[in-house]
Amino acid sequence: MLLFKKLAITTLGILFSVSLVGCDISSTQQNEVKITGKTMGTFYNITVVGDYPGGAEQLKHEADEVLAVLNKEMSIFDKNSMLSKFNQHNSTEPMEISSNLADVIIASIRAGYLLNGATDITIEPLVSAWGFGPDKLAKFPTKEEIAQAKAKTGLDKLHVEVSANKATIRKDIPDLTVDLATVGEGFGADKLAELMDSRGINNYMVAVAGAIRSKGHNSRGTDWVVGIEHPSNEQDVGKHYDIPVCTRGQAISTSGSYRNYVIGKDGKRKTHIIDPTSGEPINHNTVSITVIGPSALWTDAIDTGLMVWGSEKALSFANDRNIAIYTIVKTEDGFKSHYSRAMQKYLDCK
Ligand code: ADP
Ligand code: MG
Repeated sequence: MLLFKKLAITTLGILFSVSLVGCDISSTQQNEVKITGKTMGTFYNITVVGDYPGGAEQLKHEADEVLAVLNKEMSIFDKNSMLSKFNQHNSTEPMEISSNLADVIIASIRAGYLLNGATDITIEPLVSAWGFGPDKLAKFPTKEEIAQAKAKTGLDKLHVEVSANKATIRKDIPDLTVDLATVGEGFGADKLAELMDSRGINNYMVAVAGAIRSKGHNSRGTDWVVGIEHPSNEQDVGKHYDIPVCTRGQAISTSGSYRNYVIGKDGKRKTHIIDPTSGEPINHNTVSITVIGPSALWTDAIDTGLMVWGSEKALSFANDRNIAIYTIVKTEDGFKSHYSRAMQKYLDCK
């Protein structure tokens, strides 16, 4: 069951974006507790170095519970979730929401404004217009249909207010909706990291699909290493190699579009990432952008907007703001990668 994601990202999805590499069990020096589970139409996994109070079963139980609470608030596939209630709330009157949901929406709006609206959590009508809704049927909307869908979007039409004991959300037009598909995995990874911290675990790695958080060191006492998938040939997406990245306690996530696409009537590829300005799927040669930053919610929100912009603009923005990003661009004869200055230290894995 898809929860956040419009398009299922299978276990391969983690290889597609960022993955854990270098997990050589045979050379393990310390105990590890490892679990994997399902959430948001994809999977999550947790590795704890040393012991977890209550063992793997207890860890799984607690992680599932954390993610279930999150889905109950934020999934648009659960028609009774708090977010679905807001989407069904066909009114411009404010609605009370949990502080948790308010936090995610405020962080997503902030990321959106930082990128001049390129990440837009109100984009669902356009996503559906292009056939990237749950049925995944390719559609090719007319100019009028695009304009109609676009009129139902806009970050400027969404308002969240938080006071000491209450958070409310309000829309300027009754049919505005919020879809947290693009930040769900990141927020999930942050929540799992919070769980680890609250249990006093100092060495762990948690991943919800391609959004990863880690702390401390791995079971061999060295830095956690994550791999950015670098495709070797677009026609044969199974083939790739990994660029090793030492995240040094930071969050990492990737936005990439060469797997989730449909072919348009014009023969061109339409990806599931939509440019909120044009109302059309992005149509450039950037195949993935990886972002490293303080929280996975933040990196997950930023990577999508940077993908809307494409590699060149993303790199100039990242260099101006000292943000670590790694981009992969399709060229005539293969793929080429680029990275911002702030990325260098994460590529220098010892
Ligand atoms: P990726 O892993 O490729 O970044 P995600 O699954 O994280 O993709 O997010 C893509 C989903 O986000 C789409 O399926 C759609 O629901 C939504 N989306 C598409 N374009 C945007 C956008 N510009 N801003 C925010 N969300 C978007
Ligand atoms: Mg994203």
